[in-house]
Amino acid sequence: MTSENLKIISLDVKDVRFPTSLGAHGSDAMHKDPDYSCAYVVLKTAKGTEGHGLTFTCGRGTEIVVAAIKSLSELVVGQTAIDIFKDFGVFWRSLTSETQLRWLGPEKGVMHLATAAIINALWDLWGKLLNKPLWRLLADLDPEHIVSCIDFRYISDVITKEEAIEILKQGQKGKEERIEKLMKEGYPAYTTQVGWMGYSQEVIIELCQKYLDMGFTAFKVKVGQNLKDDIKRLKTVRNVIGWDNKLMVDANQVWDVKQAIEWMKQLAEFKLLWIEEPTSPDDILGHAKIAKELKPLGIGVATGEMCCNRVMFKQFLQADAMQYCQIDSARIGGVNEILSVYLMAHKLGVKVCPHAGGVGLCEMVQHLQMWDYVALSGTMEDRVIEYVDQQHEHFVNPVVVENACYKVPKRAGYSTTFTPETIPKYEYPNGTEWQLMFSQGLFPDPCKHQS
Ligand SMILES: [Mg+2]
Repeated sequence: MTSENLKIISLDVKDVRFPTSLGAHGSDAMHKDPDYSCAYVVLKTAKGTEGHGLTFTCGRGTEIVVAAIKSLSELVVGQTAIDIFKDFGVFWRSLTSETQLRWLGPEKGVMHLATAAIINALWDLWGKLLNKPLWRLLADLDPEHIVSCIDFRYISDVITKEEAIEILKQGQKGKEERIEKLMKEGYPAYTTQVGWMGYSQEVIIELCQKYLDMGFTAFKVKVGQNLKDDIKRLKTVRNVIGWDNKLMVDANQVWDVKQAIEWMKQLAEFKLLWIEEPTSPDDILGHAKIAKELKPLGIGVATGEMCCNRVMFKQFLQADAMQYCQIDSARIGGVNEILSVYLMAHKLGVKVCPHAGGVGLCEMVQHLQMWDYVALSGTMEDRVIEYVDQQHEHFVNPVVVENACYKVPKRAGYSTTFTPETIPKYEYPNGTEWQLMFSQGLFPDPCKHQS
């Protein structure tokens, strides 16, 4: 491969939305009607290889992320992929610290979602160029190369490059045996499918039984809108899944700190492993207080799916404010920054249990967690990947979950390529499915709305 062949000649971005609000799929205490969506990036090299990456959104506002990606594209187009991958941390900083655009963040909000989509597309491209699935590409990189992908600015008080290299060198021991085990058994998953806020009792019972029959032993339920209702739903779930299986709850940021503590005391009888996002995702000390109060009840605090960046993660980890670190593959600045969170969590002894669901999050995050098992933490103990059975049919290489375990992805890249039908059907607002739904009156047509 010549470097001329590997020049990135174009960056295209699409606003892709799925009408999930019609079935209350994905509904929780804060997001009552999400239409699972994404900003989808396609990078193309001169030789024709493409990298596909995305960031997840809940519908309205995706066009803003698309605009941010367009603003960043001139920093990517014209670059040579091989040069980017040689010193990926330097390139990552060139996106996040662009001298004018950084004012819109820095390293948070829409700009960082846009960064994640582009960075994820680059990792997909790297995997495809080397013909390796991402987890394997990461596992095969030597510790120095992994560390060169990370921007250590703002985190070197907790972990230095040298320490990270040493940790990753330790992670090499027994790697081949772990790859073998992973290939055979896959990686354990838990399901959130049973507990969306908008589901009826009948649907909950039916889904609990379905996922039990599929071999699941860990379940998560949305809470936080109405205490009586939460108690009723948790009773229903425990009745079906029994008391030996794990049960977690998720409030999606709906409570104040004191309210979270009081509410959770009322739910403690249901033997809950964690409360996820009890309050504002930015409130580190609030989470620490909740964690301290709930510890005697055996309930841990889980958060991270909306944590802005490695600096926030650093503080959550330092403050004992999260017992379960929920990295999100479509957030913070993509794979590079997520690697730094894995390393800090490892050093500070916090388990990573990734957030997934949405659009493509399961597809992506399986690679990261598998790399963690193979080359970093070396264990799957008390760790699980979230699994939501939605939107997989739109991907060329969807996740495969069998016996409640993610099977190892074998195809090259980051599993983020849409099928050829997906974009013509679901691009918003001109895709054929959207046009049909507008004509049926299921959604307002934004073009007519404006006129
Ligand atoms: Mg959640």
